[in-house]
Amino acid sequence: MSDLISKAKSTVLTVKPYVPGKPIDEVKRELGLQNVIKLASNENPYPPSPKVLKALQEALPSVNRYPNGDCHTLREELSKFLNVKPAQLIFGNGSDELIVLAVRLFVREGDEVIIAQPSFLVYDIASKIAGADIVSVPLKDFHYDLDAMQEAVTPRTRIIFLGNPDNPAGTYLTQRAVEEFLAGVPRDVLVFIDEAYFEYVQAEDYVDSLGLLDRYPNLIVSRTFSKMYGLAGLRVGYAVGGEELCGLFNRIREPFNVNSMAQAAAVACLQDQAYYRDIARQVEEQRRYLYIELTRLNLEYRETYTNFIMVKVSRDAKEMTGHLMRLGVIVRDMSFWGMNNYIRVSIGTAEENRTFVAALEKII
Ligand SMILES: *Cc1c(COP(=O)(O)O)cnc(C)c1O
Repeated sequence: MSDLISKAKSTVLTVKPYVPGKPIDEVKRELGLQNVIKLASNENPYPPSPKVLKALQEALPSVNRYPNGDCHTLREELSKFLNVKPAQLIFGNGSDELIVLAVRLFVREGDEVIIAQPSFLVYDIASKIAGADIVSVPLKDFHYDLDAMQEAVTPRTRIIFLGNPDNPAGTYLTQRAVEEFLAGVPRDVLVFIDEAYFEYVQAEDYVDSLGLLDRYPNLIVSRTFSKMYGLAGLRVGYAVGGEELCGLFNRIREPFNVNSMAQAAAVACLQDQAYYRDIARQVEEQRRYLYIELTRLNLEYRETYTNFIMVKVSRDAKEMTGHLMRLGVIVRDMSFWGMNNYIRVSIGTAEENRTFVAALEKII
């Protein structure tokens, strides 16, 4: 190690870099394939709505200017849409940034952060960089073990992350479970509920987390325009919380953390609900299609409340992912999460899903 590198914060050296799903172009280039589909990053496979494209075109000539640092219009629109005060919103360069900011706000070296295992890797990476002791609580049959998470709280606990629905498990937490959990968590511990996939959940008993914010000032709820709204490439997410808490986030964020194209597109998404409701409906239909096909192929899968499915494969997930990739289908190898027999497959368009099923059938 050179002099400078050895002076990097020791916490950084404990972090394994995040490995994203491989981009389509890269797979085409590396394997010399013409047709490649990506079902690895839970993206929305459909193009943005015409209204969103128009808003982007209109915003384009002004990219010489800095964006509105306060996300003014987006804040106004979203506060009306969610029925919360504008000051209860904080925006980020994707909701990933809000996770990072939460850790930066509350976690000192040696503090504890409680994270389900497996769960979204960004919780883990952000916490490790801050020097936190990560308290991992294993999922119980693909569900959060909230009792165990509550018991894991100590005076050193600063944040508890709850993915709802969770990635990669695909399961959700009910109103009752979340209420009981919050009631048992000390008020000086931040409960960070990550609702990146909440638009896809169709369950009567799914928690209305925003309705709990008044009672629990230690609660924050993040959401994103990356998933159902399909703006993953533009990077915009938000969190809703108490005004004071959001004020803290506001102090430490970068002044122009959400770019102007992202702001314009997000506003247009909110104004085009019919288009996005239809997308959610198509995802639901395709989820049913995949359930039927996976059953036909005798493959075990997990019921999911998101736009991705965990599929159990009889052989090594890494090997399976490699085979699928050579047939032009990119899926996620879950062995990185320690789940050696699972692949995670994002629900694509009808055609993409048929391609995936055909490739799967060829391999098994
Ligand atoms: C995709 C995802 C996000 C969203 O990330 P962005 O930074 O908003 O694109 C957040 N949490 C989970 C669990 C996710 O799967």
